[in-house]
Amino acid sequence: MHWGVHVPDTPRIHHVQGRLVRVPMTRPLGTSAAVVTHAFLLLVDLQIDGGSVGHGYIFCYGEAPGRAAAEWLRRLAPELQGQSAAPKNLAEWLAPRMRLVGHRGVASMVTAALDIAAWDAHSHACGVSLAQMLGASPAPIRAYNSNGLGLVDAKIAAIEAEVLLEGGFGGVKMRLGRPTLEQDLEAVRAVRRILPSQCHLMADFNQALSPAEASRRCCALDDEGLAWIEEPVRHDDYATYALLRTKIRTPLQIGENFQGPSAMAQALALRCCDYVMVDVERIGGVTGWIDASGLAAAHDVELSSHLMPEVSAQLLAASPTRHWLEYVDWATPILKRPLEIRDGYSVPHEGHGTGVEWNEDAVRAFLVE
Ligand SMILES: [Mg+2]
Repeated sequence: MHWGVHVPDTPRIHHVQGRLVRVPMTRPLGTSAAVVTHAFLLLVDLQIDGGSVGHGYIFCYGEAPGRAAAEWLRRLAPELQGQSAAPKNLAEWLAPRMRLVGHRGVASMVTAALDIAAWDAHSHACGVSLAQMLGASPAPIRAYNSNGLGLVDAKIAAIEAEVLLEGGFGGVKMRLGRPTLEQDLEAVRAVRRILPSQCHLMADFNQALSPAEASRRCCALDDEGLAWIEEPVRHDDYATYALLRTKIRTPLQIGENFQGPSAMAQALALRCCDYVMVDVERIGGVTGWIDASGLAAAHDVELSSHLMPEVSAQLLAASPTRHWLEYVDWATPILKRPLEIRDGYSVPHEGHGTGVEWNEDAVRAFLVE
């Protein structure tokens, strides 16, 4: 009872389990920041009263942050027992526990993994998919293939790009930020030549350049038919993005590093990018994504996803300005039913929740003890 008003009970958290797996990637990813050969994924199972179990996973960028997130979750698990499983209540419960360390990095991984699993558990309990839980119909989402195409030689990039179109993808993303502009240009031209004309080519610098070098390279790349140029400079240098946007016609894409919806609000207020892409982990799980997709809609800006395509496909279905699903197959080996791409679109999940369920044999094989 609260001020004499009856407040109906929400389901409580019964049990939480976190596991870290190290999954080999089909195609190692060489970006301007690091070469990644294995995906460290934090898997969360969250059981609520009534027996429904929600699943969620987070890409952890490396072993050390993955281990830290898993350990943090292990210590939180006993305290979480008996807490409200409603995602908004869970967020309020977690916020003060993350405040001193700062709501980013490992703290953000733990929070988002729990949030995604809680939403999944509720969707299962209600007998609907996550997209339906958010008021949308499951929908096919246009996907580009973001596997591979790291900082490799132009000839190798062209061969790889052709292979990546299998599955009918309407776009692929290549990484840029080679030692010289000429090498980047050569690679872009080699890949563009091999792709069908209707195929979209995205390019990602992973924050490699100084403002001056970004201006030089982006202007030089402006006539190469790129669908977007992603993160040429430091992710939060919004002043440089705003200036860059006035110099080129190619759309500027940022957002995978928005740490919560307020970062997106700042970027949109400054009109420093043409498109935004959201990472379900950094933005604050499903709960953060809902706010972010509302912001993008209010600004009429196209919203794409970053990594974790299984849950992102459902979230994009519920996002009014949905644009592209970034497809990577990094979790495929540990999933019972990996996300399927057909004719360039994600196949909508018809069951309950997010559709994420573990292939337990594979989880055991890749478990980090
Ligand atoms: Mg990126």
